[in-house]
Amino acid sequence: GAGSALSATKQVKLERESELRIEVGTDAPLRLRVVAGTAEIFGTELPPEIWFSFPPRHKFAVFTWYGATVEMDGETETDYTADETPMVSYVNVHAVLDARRNRARASPAGSESSQGPRVIVVGPTDSGKSTLSKMLLSWAAKQGWKPTFVDLDIGQGSITIPGSIAATPIELPIDPVEGVPLEMPLVYYYGHTTPSNNVDLYKVLAKELADTLERQFSGNAESRAAGMVINTMGWIEGVGYELLQHAINTFKANVVLVLGQEKLFSMLKKDALKINPSIDVVKLQKSGGVVSRNVKYRQKARSYRIREYFYGLGNELSPHASIASFSDLSIYRIGGGPQAPHSALPIGAKPVADPLRLAPVNISRDLLHVVLAVSFAKEADQIVSSNVAGFVYVTDVDVQRKKITFLAPSPGELPSKLLIMGTLTWLET
Ligand code: ADP
Repeated sequence: GAGSALSATKQVKLERESELRIEVGTDAPLRLRVVAGTAEIFGTELPPEIWFSFPPRHKFAVFTWYGATVEMDGETETDYTADETPMVSYVNVHAVLDARRNRARASPAGSESSQGPRVIVVGPTDSGKSTLSKMLLSWAAKQGWKPTFVDLDIGQGSITIPGSIAATPIELPIDPVEGVPLEMPLVYYYGHTTPSNNVDLYKVLAKELADTLERQFSGNAESRAAGMVINTMGWIEGVGYELLQHAINTFKANVVLVLGQEKLFSMLKKDALKINPSIDVVKLQKSGGVVSRNVKYRQKARSYRIREYFYGLGNELSPHASIASFSDLSIYRIGGGPQAPHSALPIGAKPVADPLRLAPVNISRDLLHVVLAVSFAKEADQIVSSNVAGFVYVTDVDVQRKKITFLAPSPGELPSKLLIMGTLTWLET
């Protein structure tokens, strides 16, 4: 385009089993297409000649099994070719999973063996967990399976806004630009971006999600055979490790893929077998292309995710502003407050916070810039066990007139007046 930076088109020839690793520049999108051969981005094959436009700062790799020529148009922060990748070991895992799906499909309906692989991907932050999850899902979808993607990462999840855990069926290879399709995911709102805020609530919501999926599977042999791919948080020490074991147990995982950490692998190999003696714990190499993201980058990424929820990736959505009276909405927090007053406790005992206690929130200026989840619950006491319809963002609170203004992704009445507040806020930029 115009300006000082000349738009540079360049072609890169990739040898078989190599990849082009790219970080898009900070100011403008990068266009890219395949002009010869075949190539894929994280498991999704790129159709020949079609231009894809990647947003600023996007980090990805174009991998080819048999060789390809790729054309780029725009600025990159970095781009380089690597011929050492763990892709062969990853696709071998896919082949094993595929065989298990076929075996599950051939088994009598409802039998134990009709359950396909339930894969959980674990490892430290920036080990490539979500990338490997996407590859396994896209390769499966390419072969006609509809595996369920479960994302337990409340910090950098791929399905919906941060602070949530969610699941969605993957019916087509994941779009390399748009990401996971957002149609009707099953979402539970935890409300914080770190599990230490309320570990018990995190566990309860993971259990609710697992139980709901179990019910869906029992009526759907196809998704049962296709199984799940579960992405997890990068928190692997202490309580983080306990939560990994909890997830393996709760989702009845039968394959554990450990990325890039010897210690985690040997610990899980011992402990996961106690949970399920027939579980497979597999160690996989971390890709050298995985980019480390610092705290600031993660915060930015969270903010972009929230913006994307309301405005779309390329500003193509227009969220709807609504005004409601305070009395029209019931906002709750989960956990935090003391369970019993001091006076009711034996002398010397400290009041214990009940992690699942529902506390009504008084509407005040404190709600400004808060992201709220809209619960599917019919009554307040069902909030903890209910999934959420979506999110709203508070843009104004008029205490005098008792009115609250918020953005919602679509116009019309909210599906419920029961809203959940956590610690998630967003400053529109
Ligand atoms: P984790 O889920 O373990 O935190 P991710 O899978 O999100 O890690 O990877 C971290 C970042 O590295 C992401 O932005 C991802 O797109 C990027 N990335 C992963 N693999 C590659 C690769 N081979 N080449 C370039 N970038 C990559």
